[in-house]
Amino acid sequence: MPGGPAMTRATVFACVFLLFQSALAHDVDLTKLPLGDGHLSSAPQVGYIWACRVDPGGGGAQLDGPWINKAAGTYDFTKKAVVSGQVTWRPNFKMALNGAARVFTSNDLPNHPTGNFPVSPTDEAYRYDRNPNSIREQSVTVTLPANPVAAAAPTCAPGAVGILLTGSVLFNALDAPGRDAVAHEAQDSCQGHPQISGVYHYHSVTTCMDDKRLPGGHSTLVGYALDGFGIFGRFGEKGEALSSSDLDACHGHSHAIPWDGKTVVMYHYHATPDFPYSVGCFHGSYSLENVRAISGPPPQGRGRGQPIGGNGGFGPPGR
Ligand SMILES: [Zn+2]
Ligand SMILES: [Zn+2]
Repeated sequence: MPGGPAMTRATVFACVFLLFQSALAHDVDLTKLPLGDGHLSSAPQVGYIWACRVDPGGGGAQLDGPWINKAAGTYDFTKKAVVSGQVTWRPNFKMALNGAARVFTSNDLPNHPTGNFPVSPTDEAYRYDRNPNSIREQSVTVTLPANPVAAAAPTCAPGAVGILLTGSVLFNALDAPGRDAVAHEAQDSCQGHPQISGVYHYHSVTTCMDDKRLPGGHSTLVGYALDGFGIFGRFGEKGEALSSSDLDACHGHSHAIPWDGKTVVMYHYHATPDFPYSVGCFHGSYSLENVRAISGPPPQGRGRGQPIGGNGGFGPPGR
């Protein structure tokens, strides 16, 4: 019986099924994403964020949406209220290699449409998060190491963690009071929104950027973390969909990647649909100057927040 046409077909089906299974092995269910509330640590920990600080009095959504299931510790990303609108902007994003430095300039306006902000009282999202801020052009200059190296030990993630190739900035997974920002905050269909000084930002890698693939299936570069390491999309070396459990505590790993036209074995972060979405801590060193540069002007009259992890740090103002 082995070798008969039926067996061959069954074997092929089995192989295809196994391949399919392995490709999906670590895929996550967008309707039951882990709610990151309380997933804060004071040391590197997979699936958690080691945040430098949170601000218990900071702004954020005023009401939990029905997509959040606190008892189960999950939320349904597909049912989340989305801030409506199709506002287009004039981005001005440039990146240049200058010796050992990679220099970015950006007005922070994204290369994709955004929702209408402030959130309109007629918008369903307003019921949960009355974000009163408007998107405002910024003047961002960031200089990162072109060829970053690992720090002696990982460090906590400040509030602002990187810049995406859309031209807009990436904050960490938390809202100002330290909850899962992607679960709670009203964001537009590109997962962005403005904070108190008008900085349009994401808390996860936007789905409005194509997750393109390299030969072999690994995602292409989608942005840079403030330690200079690259942020790639959600697909790993074999083209498999990654989740946080496939990555180290800082949300990255090392293998050969394309880097400025060469192939090098290098650390890099990955985007995943599950908490903490992007950088969970920093693998390399970063400067507070760059954190400030992408956080926007400091807020007026706010508390300083409570450092987590003992070394203070600096977070983005509000939201
Ligand atoms: Zn990778
Ligand atoms: Zn935010």
